[in-house]
Amino acid sequence: MLGLGRSGLSTARALKAGGAVPVCWDDNPDARARAEAEGFDCADLGRQGAMDDLARLVVSPGIPHLYPAPNPVIAAAYEAGVPVDNDIGLFFRSLAAGGWEQFDTPPKVFAITGSNGKSTTSALIHHCLVAAGREAQLAGNIGRGVLDIDPPGDGGVVVLELSSYQTDLARALTPDVAVFTNFSPDHLDRHGGIGGYFAAKRRLFAEGGPDRAVIGIDEPEGRYIADQLGEGAADDRVIRISASRKPTGPGWQVMARKGFLSEWRKGRQVGSIDLRAVAGLPGAHNHQNACAAYAALRTLGIAPRTIEQAFHSFAGLPHRSQLIAEADGVRYVNDSKATNVDSAAKALSAFPNIRWICGGLEKEGGLDAVIEAAGSVVKAYVIGREAAAFAVKLRGIEAEVCTDMETAVRRAIEDAQPGDTVLLAPAAASFDQYDSFERRGEDFTARVTAALGL
Ligand code: ADP
Repeated sequence: MLGLGRSGLSTARALKAGGAVPVCWDDNPDARARAEAEGFDCADLGRQGAMDDLARLVVSPGIPHLYPAPNPVIAAAYEAGVPVDNDIGLFFRSLAAGGWEQFDTPPKVFAITGSNGKSTTSALIHHCLVAAGREAQLAGNIGRGVLDIDPPGDGGVVVLELSSYQTDLARALTPDVAVFTNFSPDHLDRHGGIGGYFAAKRRLFAEGGPDRAVIGIDEPEGRYIADQLGEGAADDRVIRISASRKPTGPGWQVMARKGFLSEWRKGRQVGSIDLRAVAGLPGAHNHQNACAAYAALRTLGIAPRTIEQAFHSFAGLPHRSQLIAEADGVRYVNDSKATNVDSAAKALSAFPNIRWICGGLEKEGGLDAVIEAAGSVVKAYVIGREAAAFAVKLRGIEAEVCTDMETAVRRAIEDAQPGDTVLLAPAAASFDQYDSFERRGEDFTARVTAALGL
């Protein structure tokens, strides 16, 4: 077992519970100490001859694999002919070997990948399944390690969020339903450029892959996968989803346009939802997530009305366009996860009359993309250690240097008019003032609820 962070350690536990004798390694001595305290044997997997007795090398998703430089332990395993896998691959192999034979109707596995919206889509699918009375488990990148879950009962569903790092290494990837939300260049450093990143995501849709595929076709990469997988536009194996395109042809499609979701089969509309009335899924990006979740749920035959009702009770994920309060006609929204200009731009496009709390540790690439999307910003309230420098870059936007969250929230509340949205979407990392984007979002939420006396 290579890599002993939270997920590596949980994989090691599962391997042990299954009767294997894991040999563990992590370059970090603290991680090794934690594993040893639990009774695992640690031995340097980089040493000469380390591969001799290994049946398999299991790699944690936190370990860079080929870029920026080949990992020496993984390279040694390949050279010695030792199969390399991860917890996701082990999970699918155990299912293929009859791991859920005890069930009359074995649980289904939904795997969700894509550049953005994976967590929101996974959580939304899980929420709707539970609301529809199905047993469901969230696992993978969100929720528990996949080898750690209690399988849901007969007819249940495992909703598995997968990052490109996870799909890249898994030796088996055979979900019943695979979802590809969208594609944008991200994490290119780990995959050696855009080709490697796309290849990692695409593995989920290889031959022998899912029975059903839900594919976002707003970018050429998604259209390519959809066309390759569904032989002919009418093939029921593929459901195409989009937040911008009109339905065309006879194939199964779920489209969101101008706030309305519609489902099309054989050229006829068979379902619809008014997404403008769904408070927990604001903005076109969330409408794309709603299409992905809706389509995945429809593969189980869940009725459109049931899905619509469940959408209305979805509160959103913490720190992603999360509505935290509404007072005196003003909405307060926490999108602390908008750590880069792209996700902040999506958040800014989702609301009218925005009082925008932004700033922090700026990322490379400048702020142009977010400034272009800031048409509905009434005023910016800038936080961060370099707040003054950040404010100067917000060309054409009225900006007040607030530096700390308390001041920004207070000033935004003082200025806000009915119909405004006070939105935290920093377009920057949090590390100059917080440990994580979660702490930043919690601080915002606490300051808002305190200031409003909620
Ligand atoms: P992921 O799990 O893929 O990182 P999340 O659901 O956690 O995605 O959302 C991460 C950020 O991206 C949030 O700031 C959110 O506002 C934004 N986002 C969510 N869904 C989408 C989407 N479909 N397209 C673009 N951006 C999105």
